[in-house]
Amino acid sequence: MAKIAINIATGSLQQDEIIVGIDLGTTNSLIAIIHPDTKQPTALREHNTSSLVPSVIYFDETGNVIVGEEARKKLISEPQNTIFSAKRLMGKSYNDIKYNAAFFSYKVIDDNTGSLVKVQVGNKFYTPIDLSSFILKELKQRAEHILKTPVNKAVITVPAYFNDAQRQATRDAGKLAGLNVLRIINEPTAASLAYGIGLSKEEEKIIAVYDLGGGTFDISILRIANGIFEVLSTNGDTYLGGDDIDQLIVNYWLEQAGISKDELSANKEFAQAIRLTAEEAKIHLSTQDDFSKILNGDELSITKQAFETLIEPLVNKTIACCKNALKDAGLNVNEIEVVVMVGGSTRVPFIKESISKLFGKPVNDTVNPDEVVALGAAIQADILAGNNKDLLLLDVTPLSLGIETMGGLMDVLIPRNSKIPNKVGRQYTTHKDGQSGMKIAVYQGERDMVKDNRKLAEFNLSNIPAMPAGLAKVEVGFLINADGILVVRAKELRSGVEQSIEVKSQFGLTDDMLEKMLMDSITHAKDDIATRALVEARTEGEQLLETTERFIQKNIDRLTKEEMTESAVAMQALQLALTMDDKDLIHSKVEALNDISRPYAERIMDLAIAVAMKGKTV
Ligand code: ADP
Ligand code: MG
Repeated sequence: MAKIAINIATGSLQQDEIIVGIDLGTTNSLIAIIHPDTKQPTALREHNTSSLVPSVIYFDETGNVIVGEEARKKLISEPQNTIFSAKRLMGKSYNDIKYNAAFFSYKVIDDNTGSLVKVQVGNKFYTPIDLSSFILKELKQRAEHILKTPVNKAVITVPAYFNDAQRQATRDAGKLAGLNVLRIINEPTAASLAYGIGLSKEEEKIIAVYDLGGGTFDISILRIANGIFEVLSTNGDTYLGGDDIDQLIVNYWLEQAGISKDELSANKEFAQAIRLTAEEAKIHLSTQDDFSKILNGDELSITKQAFETLIEPLVNKTIACCKNALKDAGLNVNEIEVVVMVGGSTRVPFIKESISKLFGKPVNDTVNPDEVVALGAAIQADILAGNNKDLLLLDVTPLSLGIETMGGLMDVLIPRNSKIPNKVGRQYTTHKDGQSGMKIAVYQGERDMVKDNRKLAEFNLSNIPAMPAGLAKVEVGFLINADGILVVRAKELRSGVEQSIEVKSQFGLTDDMLEKMLMDSITHAKDDIATRALVEARTEGEQLLETTERFIQKNIDRLTKEEMTESAVAMQALQLALTMDDKDLIHSKVEALNDISRPYAERIMDLAIAVAMKGKTV
């Protein structure tokens, strides 16, 4: 079998260079490493402080950027200058978020276009990538301070549902912060690694990861086999989390104390204080049966029982999402072997119990739920550092992968930045009567014409039994395993004829080559679109000529003389148009020929049906 390059450039890493794992969260972010002495994943923290850095960015009047706890304190007093939840904006256009615009108390720019959002603070504009990079910079600095060594390489986690644009935005944010992002991995994958699930290649499991954070809820169903973490389904609510629980408690107290919402919003300091007290109560109730505190002369109290009644509808919402995720994965609840709890809000005992009940088994909650994702990222980082050689590598494809179709066009099966491992199938057909072979040429790159891309492999699916054009069904499957090896398989479904090829890295692309290929695709985008349109028009024209000719030959005695001559003239005109570089001309000749042939084709078809019906006994 031929073995050719697919770039999964891991490069050789220096032994002693540290690679950190980063959970870039909506509410909190943190860094973890494998501790050099204990060899255990460990979240980094300054003495006696929390490992969590609130994902909040505050811009003061002099233009200083402050990230973390200090910034969080400004949320209510200076909403215009304090940015939270920047993660929600990653890779989004204003159109994507306009229905949730009220959620953001800072200025999200509405320029009425499909372009990416920006945030305005004072007279400056920031992209979500800039904002995330501030958080990452802060984390990097902290880590360097604690470890007393430069930190330049990282693995960063993202939600499983993040698309290519959002993953790329996260990578870019890392780059801006001075980090070389070696891998983007899925949060549920990291969480399962932290529980040691999927660390051995023999292991096969179906797991559910329930992640209730500060502002978002995600449920992911994964299948782990051969060291591959396959996302079977994801579901959730991007506007449901611990903040909503706090709000429920605030509302409960306001009602009790007879304070109206208008009164509350008039007094920002009190609003801030009551929110923080609500969070305090929630956390307190995870271990105690009641909570009470005097604030501004009002007694704020709540029992665990009242709290549970309050949050039950919210918990039920998450349960509905879990059921949908199971349905999408085509699984029964009892087929889930392991349930992993992630996110600070899963500390609430009532939530744990409800989810345990839903899945009919105890949940995994022994690892600190707000650190678990970062700890898993650290394990992945350690694997990349080469300290754990026989383990899987997860990555995304650096360039699109596809095959050559009619006219030399690139048909992309796996777009660039797709998750690895990955599996995609698409059906093709034959273009000629009795065609017995089909060339499958595999390319890598972003250009529309295969000649501008990089050829990785080619093989021929032969022995296709004779059939009319368009009848054969050739399924081409691309499978990239966790090591980045691409297997291309082609199978004619009617006959079962099959052929496959393994494409493996021989000369991986260097970063420079990669960059050039991407740049080229941008520079030539306009030409490419025009070329593609022309090639498509030509292919369509050629096919129409062939089918018309075949049809006429077969039905020659059913056509009138006029129909024959008219068709011949139109076919000749189309033939001529095909030799010119004018797609509009080709289209118009295709139309013209269609207009002539349609009436007689329909007539003859009707006739054929009538004959067929006659033969049948009703
Ligand atoms: P994210 O992934 O969105 O960044 P986290 O996983 O850090 O968020 O979760 C933050 C949320 O967890 C906050 O709403 C916080 O109030 C909540 N939380 C933290 N500890 C507890 C606890 N003991 N009980 C209930 N909620 C908690
Ligand atoms: Mg999280």
